[in-house]
Amino acid sequence: MQVGGNDPPISVLGLDHWFGTGDGRKQAIWDVNLTVAKGSLTVLMGPSGSGKTTVLTLMGCLREVQKGSVRLLGAELNGASAAQAVALRRRLGFIFQAHNLHESLTATQNVLMGLEVHGRGCAAQQRRAAHHALSLVGLADRFDYLPSNLSGGQKQRVAVARALVSNPEIVFADEPTAALDRDSGRNVVEMLKALGRVRGTTTVMVTHDNRVLELADRIVTLEEGRIVNDDGAGPAAR
Ligand code: ADP
Ligand code: MG
Repeated sequence: MQVGGNDPPISVLGLDHWFGTGDGRKQAIWDVNLTVAKGSLTVLMGPSGSGKTTVLTLMGCLREVQKGSVRLLGAELNGASAAQAVALRRRLGFIFQAHNLHESLTATQNVLMGLEVHGRGCAAQQRRAAHHALSLVGLADRFDYLPSNLSGGQKQRVAVARALVSNPEIVFADEPTAALDRDSGRNVVEMLKALGRVRGTTTVMVTHDNRVLELADRIVTLEEGRIVNDDGAGPAAR
């Protein structure tokens, strides 16, 4: 595992992936190549079953790389140890379609869960960080609300705050706007885009949502496990 200062945050080369074993073994990802620029917002799109989530989870160190190379924040994931994977995941933020909030915890307490694995700072500092993250997503007046008292859009913004509270270098989001109305969905994506400008946070997002595509710096389309279109391929993307 080598660290290179000027490496792009994500670089995927010749990535293949299979599910199942024996006769049931089936190739789901075929020769995916993708280099993602720091601070950019990349959208992965394509029909259901085209491999978007598989590619996202491989890049996000949530799934073991079987063949090919995934370099994430300067580290090679193919052959990385479990300890290396854990250390890398601490530098990432994840947002999923279902917000997965704990119903018995307030907005602030849910966001604090995003710091639990980090163990950084004292309780007061962590609380300040959680409030800052909630303010960032426009929920400064909802710190002590339970999820049941928040709208769908507000809940998803709590999930975004939870992903961002640790200042991740890369955010991986899988259909984060699927459950949101047009304005809330756009809001969430605009927030991620602003973080790219302000903090250099890199975002890779799976979405079918035509409403947010215009905010993407780059759109990569998958079909049947292959990249069939990439409007950012070539020198301009690097
Ligand atoms: P998408 O996110 O684009 O809908 P996925 O990455 O979830 O697509 O799935 C890509 C392909 O891999 C599909 O054919 C799917 O059935 C298969 N697949 C995904 N996850 C698994 C799994 N855990 N076991 C077996 N096959 C899977
Ligand atoms: Mg999916």
